[in-house]
Amino acid sequence: MEIFELFKDKLGDKVKTNEPLARYTTLKIGGPAEYFYVASTTSEVLKAVSTAKTAKIRFLILGGGSNVVISDRGIKGLVVRNESRNIAVVKRIGKVAKGKMNVSQALVEVDAGVLMNQLVRFTCDEGLSGLERHLGLPGTVGGALYMNSKWTKPPTYVGDVVSTAKVLDREGNMKIVDKKYFDFAYDQSILQKTHETVLSVIFLLTVADKKSLWETAQSSMEYRKATQPMGVSTAGCTFRNIPLSDALRLATPNNTTSAGFLVDQVGLKNFQIGQAKFSDKHANFILNLGGATASQVKGLIDEAKKRVLEKFQVNIEPEIVLLGEFK
Ligand SMILES: Cc1cc2nc3c(=O)[nH]c(=O)nc-3n(C[C@H](O)[C@H](O)[C@H](O)COP(=O)(O)OP(=O)(O)OC[C@H]3O[C@@H](n4cnc5c(N)ncnc54)[C@H](O)[C@@H]3O)c2cc1C
Repeated sequence: MEIFELFKDKLGDKVKTNEPLARYTTLKIGGPAEYFYVASTTSEVLKAVSTAKTAKIRFLILGGGSNVVISDRGIKGLVVRNESRNIAVVKRIGKVAKGKMNVSQALVEVDAGVLMNQLVRFTCDEGLSGLERHLGLPGTVGGALYMNSKWTKPPTYVGDVVSTAKVLDREGNMKIVDKKYFDFAYDQSILQKTHETVLSVIFLLTVADKKSLWETAQSSMEYRKATQPMGVSTAGCTFRNIPLSDALRLATPNNTTSAGFLVDQVGLKNFQIGQAKFSDKHANFILNLGGATASQVKGLIDEAKKRVLEKFQVNIEPEIVLLGEFK
């Protein structure tokens, strides 16, 4: 049986071949996926992965596509866009005192395809604290664990409130792992090495006042609007911030570790290759002005790396994930 027929047989008519991926990314760039499937449930994710293994072809999980640059040549193998969207409060934790239950914490279980923004809204409405600063974070829970996505004012990471997660290893074995397993740090999780698939996550959250949760969430959103380009095609921050030791050596203003500051200092704010450009509002954001290609974006990345290395002797590393083949 041909591979496409095998996929159709196992996954139904939702499977596509040669599907352009640009529309599934916030940067609006990317060539076609050889095979493409939207999984609406975790069991569909599992079915897709197991079929790819049977067919002996590579697979890649895409969440919201908000942290990726997909090659103009596209992606070989199967791309699974994860749209599994279940959220539930599975346990409330507290003590009984004077015949009354005082709930202090709760466990919230979510599919990896849940949008972070929906999860934040849900937890604020439930009066549960731990994720409120991430209001406005694009993408899914799975993508947020992959990069340990963060808010910087003050530093807060999605990984901080992970309790456990259900993960599928590359051999197709499912396991339950705890927060320690992920080895979370700034822009880092074990998933970047193991390329395992997150299926679902349980977050441990603390009971708090709904009104103050929403105030905190909205203040993050306001800061986001004031500092980031809005309503544009972008993949967020291009580079990871630099280590504090480098910031101290360079005596950056207020010891800032911002990679955007260095990109600005080497004259690249507003710099453009083709239709791809470093934003004039936030120099760490690359914008697609319309019709930009992945190789133009890669050109900007390479130029910034080269200039920053020459001027500051610092090797800035991309935060955005380059997928597929690049020269
Ligand atoms: C306007 C804008 C603002 C942003 N602001 C922030 C910000 O404040 N803080 C921040 O940290 N980031 C920010 N980002 C970057 C991005 O939104 C985050 O990194 C986000 O968490 C990525 O999630 P995603 O679902 O879109 O991942 P994708 O872009 O779809 O994928 C990223 C990587 O995660 C992997 N992945 C996705 N799902 C899974 C899964 N279930 N299991 C295993 N691996 C998986 C993919 O294979 C890929 O390698 C911003 C981006 C934009 C466009």
